[in-house]
Amino acid sequence: MFVGHYAASFVAKGLEPRASLALLFVAAQFLDFVFFPLVLLGGEQLLLLPNATQATHFELPFMPYSHSIWAAILWSVIALMICRSLLNLSRTISLLVCFVVGSHWWLDLLVHTPDLAVWSIFSSDASKWGFSLWNNVYLSFATEACILLFSVAFYLKKTHPKVKAGRYLIPAFTVLLLLIQLLSNFGDLHVHSEAAFAWQAMIAFTAFAVIAGILDHQRSGGPAKNMNT
Ligand SMILES: [Zn+2]
Repeated sequence: MFVGHYAASFVAKGLEPRASLALLFVAAQFLDFVFFPLVLLGGEQLLLLPNATQATHFELPFMPYSHSIWAAILWSVIALMICRSLLNLSRTISLLVCFVVGSHWWLDLLVHTPDLAVWSIFSSDASKWGFSLWNNVYLSFATEACILLFSVAFYLKKTHPKVKAGRYLIPAFTVLLLLIQLLSNFGDLHVHSEAAFAWQAMIAFTAFAVIAGILDHQRSGGPAKNMNT
């Protein structure tokens, strides 16, 4: 899953408008922020494979430290501890970050082919799950688009623009995310190495978090203010 992960961020932000949307964007891709550096270091495996599924051009044969169910639980707890002890965030915000980190695995479960280890995670015959929506590009795109759109609608309902531009910026950003998803699902493979893929993903995820944080500052939680003054 790609931009659909941000559905968890928007829902969490809608539930607790004092939380940082940038932090929730990082949380949504936290497991991938663990995965891609490990790919670069050789600890986990991503193999480019054109048309591996209808929606993707890669295989994920080995990722026990980032995308096994046990790793997902462990990273969620670590995220909770970082939020509480290092960032001094409230219990509510820390718990939401923890759930958003964990949500990555469950959302990946919908679209991935069986590559998410649940048992014997380091062994070559690990039992792995994945509901394989990627095998149907229309269904996988529709799933990501729907959950993102519903979550943004919830976020827009729970927060209010501080300035007029605040009305349009997040919807425009959502359209941009969906266009990038469209290109990723229906476009050709444009990267020529696993390392390039990893760098591209990490840069994109970081940029999305920064943009989300900036745009979210144009909105606030609580009662709507009169925008016509
Ligand atoms: Zn992932």
